[in-house]
Amino acid sequence: MISMVVPELGTWEGKIFVGILGFSWATYMWEEYLAYRQRHVYREKVEPPSELKGIMERTTYDKARAYSIDKSNFSMVEGFCSHIVNTGVMLYGGLPVFWSAAGKMSEWLGFSVDSEIPQTVAFICLASAVNTVVNLPWSVYFTFKVEQKHGFNKQTPGFFVKDKIKKFIVSQVISAPVVAGLVYIIKAGGDYFFLYLWGFTTAVMLFFMTVYPDYIAPLFDKYTPLPSGPLRDQIEELARQIHFPLTKLYVVEGSKRSAHSNAYFYGFFKNKRIVLYDTLLEDYTPLNEDGEAKQNEEETKAAAEGEKEKKKTGCSTPEVLAVLGHELGHWKLNHVLKGIIISQVNLLLVFGVFGSLYKYSPLYRTFGFHQSQPAFIGLIIVMQYVFAPYNEVLQFLLTMFSRHNEFQADAFAKSLGHSEQLTSALVKLNEDNLGFPVYDSLFSAWHLSHPPILERIRALEDGEKKEK
Ligand SMILES: [Zn+2]
Repeated sequence: MISMVVPELGTWEGKIFVGILGFSWATYMWEEYLAYRQRHVYREKVEPPSELKGIMERTTYDKARAYSIDKSNFSMVEGFCSHIVNTGVMLYGGLPVFWSAAGKMSEWLGFSVDSEIPQTVAFICLASAVNTVVNLPWSVYFTFKVEQKHGFNKQTPGFFVKDKIKKFIVSQVISAPVVAGLVYIIKAGGDYFFLYLWGFTTAVMLFFMTVYPDYIAPLFDKYTPLPSGPLRDQIEELARQIHFPLTKLYVVEGSKRSAHSNAYFYGFFKNKRIVLYDTLLEDYTPLNEDGEAKQNEEETKAAAEGEKEKKKTGCSTPEVLAVLGHELGHWKLNHVLKGIIISQVNLLLVFGVFGSLYKYSPLYRTFGFHQSQPAFIGLIIVMQYVFAPYNEVLQFLLTMFSRHNEFQADAFAKSLGHSEQLTSALVKLNEDNLGFPVYDSLFSAWHLSHPPILERIRALEDGEKKEK
């Protein structure tokens, strides 16, 4: 039988333990309180507010409401269970259990008992395997029940299983050398190891950002160059107009996964690419799995029967251009660069604190490590637990920053003359994605990285951004 491994309350480790556990419950309750407030909005706002006239149809509003309620209920149950599991892991010393299992694994593979690098790699592999398995029922339920019910899921069970396995293997192949490098640097780096640690993570990040689009992303989804035509010409023209160094223009087959739509740009310096989800493009959206012939047939039928058939989703060419005007606004206004700088400064701070704390033994004893002080375990404890309050504040500030950037990018698209098309694109995308347009003020301030659609439309109309 496993027993609780709670440290004595009078000791330092006891105090740290209580602090960490208390904070994790406090944030959990706070999140649940916000979710409760938002659920209240879903339940109470049965009638669409008057300002939605001309923006959202009644039937779409009802569908969005039902979808939001289902998602919110799902997160409530899932959140409760995972919080209980996390508390259990702390109370019953889950980390040392995994750590010693990883030690046995690496010993079995022929490494010496006290070699920390292979043990850490085995630990990561073991922990993520268990994590994937534990999360599997939730992921299955969400994809095949919640998303399916509301018409978003496009994954077949076969695709789902293959995708999960591929993700697991790829992430292990990537993380093994990275984790080995991190542990080596912590062990061998001397007094200023945190600086090397920072340099190493920065290099690794830049490396994966460079190879990701060509070598990793295609393992999971199909990317095809956007065929020449009016859309391609106009996108290239838009890029020229604002001096965006566009080198590649792809459509990704997002419809194999879900009916949700999106667009983004990616890349370094003079080598940038734009990726459009096929679900964003009106002309690409498959109405069924039988391909285009059937699609056209159905379209004519729909026209004949007076739109009784399934409605076409996605945006028209001018609307796609407006969406890209917004996305490229993020580039022109350096939002991406600012984001990277913030995260790098933050990482330096975290590593610096880790550098001064990582030999502090009560920290390890808090989590049941009495004999050994594995470097990577220390890093997890500092980044995840010691920094938890800081992470919450930082996350809140970043969410505010992101909302601010969204208004700016909208204003940029407007300055290019896409205001009206952007409004109609936002309306369509909100409709296609069944976004619920009404928000509780606290929930919105804490969670929304994108401002609510009504605020964005109002700002586009006013021509001046409003911060919430
Ligand atoms: Zn944006």
